[in-house]
Amino acid sequence: MKIKTADMAIKGGILVNSKGVRQADIFIKDGIVDSIEPHYSAKPATKIIDASGKFVLPGIIDAHLHPVYADRIDTLSKAAACGGITTLIPYIGAVKAWGKTGTIFDAVKDFIEEGEKNSVVDFGIHCTLTRDDMDKMATMIPKVVEMGVISFKAFMAYARRGMKLEDEELMKSMEILAENGASLAVHAENGNILDYLEDRFTDQGSLGPEFYPATHPSLAEAEAIFRVLTLAKVIKCPIYLPHVSAYESLEVIRLFKGWGEPVFFTETCPHYLTFTDEEMKKRGALAKMAPPLRKKKDVEAVWKAVEEGLIDVISSDAAGHLVKTKEPLWDNIFKSPYGIPGLETMFTVAYDEGVNKGKITLPHLVKLTCENPARIFGLYPRKGVLQEDSDADVVIFDPGVSHTIKAKNQHLKVDYSMYEGKVCMGSPILVIQRGNILMEEGELKAEPGQGKYIPGKKD
Ligand SMILES: [Zn+2]
Repeated sequence: MKIKTADMAIKGGILVNSKGVRQADIFIKDGIVDSIEPHYSAKPATKIIDASGKFVLPGIIDAHLHPVYADRIDTLSKAAACGGITTLIPYIGAVKAWGKTGTIFDAVKDFIEEGEKNSVVDFGIHCTLTRDDMDKMATMIPKVVEMGVISFKAFMAYARRGMKLEDEELMKSMEILAENGASLAVHAENGNILDYLEDRFTDQGSLGPEFYPATHPSLAEAEAIFRVLTLAKVIKCPIYLPHVSAYESLEVIRLFKGWGEPVFFTETCPHYLTFTDEEMKKRGALAKMAPPLRKKKDVEAVWKAVEEGLIDVISSDAAGHLVKTKEPLWDNIFKSPYGIPGLETMFTVAYDEGVNKGKITLPHLVKLTCENPARIFGLYPRKGVLQEDSDADVVIFDPGVSHTIKAKNQHLKVDYSMYEGKVCMGSPILVIQRGNILMEEGELKAEPGQGKYIPGKKD
């Protein structure tokens, strides 16, 4: 105990960190966890929150989202707060396909301004690199790293949107990033395979949503993962593999983990743990994302990898569009944009599918959604854990509350949910950031601008 009277005490709950659960009270002063005490502690506090019978978790981190489509950081951060997420790490960049001009430095600077004005939760930044950035990379990357952006992203697909980097460009990027202590996230799909198949299906008139998954085969993902990890092993650059979705990819990941090099981390998303490609027939373009929804065998393999610890992070990859923007829903799947919503439901769906179904423990889920993203992206131990001196970002989670997911009850502009009608057991009922209540019993209490930019720290 460091102070006499705390600003806030969360009493009677079950504290959950990655290593386990214990009965403990949390005392907060000036937005920081001042101390963690046994239940019988008589330490006074100005405000007392009764968390009896509830889980007390660190604020959840969503390390993968795109605030450039229907929802920007304002509405995304509101949805985040209501879903128990207190830190967002979105992908930002000087990407023409997102309507941006200027350099990555401008993009990062603009986003920090926008976020500090409009976000209700704290945020970090990942910076996307495209071919247009290649010339200026050597001077721009150190400047951006200095601003606390220590993770970057490149694409191995989407040449037609100006996103794809060739192997030489990936290696050059890795070299500069490694020199600056930063890491590279890679959208790993073999773009040549994707473009070739899309053209072939289009020529044949096979345009229905059911044809889409076949244009992004599992092996296109696995091959790209093999290749990018090979390049990174040569250059010695740390790698992050977002949205791993395929059985074959996990075979490659297992192989490279066994080799011990390069240093790399893996991520999957709730939709790859929940849905199969059957969803394309039910929802058409509304279920289009990349990589695509796959087969039951893949869903099972991704779960197995989560259980084994081969997957490090679960994130949303929220990139939602309005239903009307997704049109045509049925006639030409290749004309519809990529991406689905899923940020507000990220934790509750992962909890319901993972913990309630006995696949993983709650401490393991906390590792995947709090501690690991905080460690990988330089926010730990300020974020990702509840211990003395960490930010007082707290989620009180009631495992006994059942709720039905409905798009109309959510805080996004996106007007549909992949999980419409799904009944989830367990829900965040109180969300606190740096000692301030953001959400209570489903009601948003936060103001735009309450979120702060949290620069990533290199180890
Ligand atoms: Zn994404």
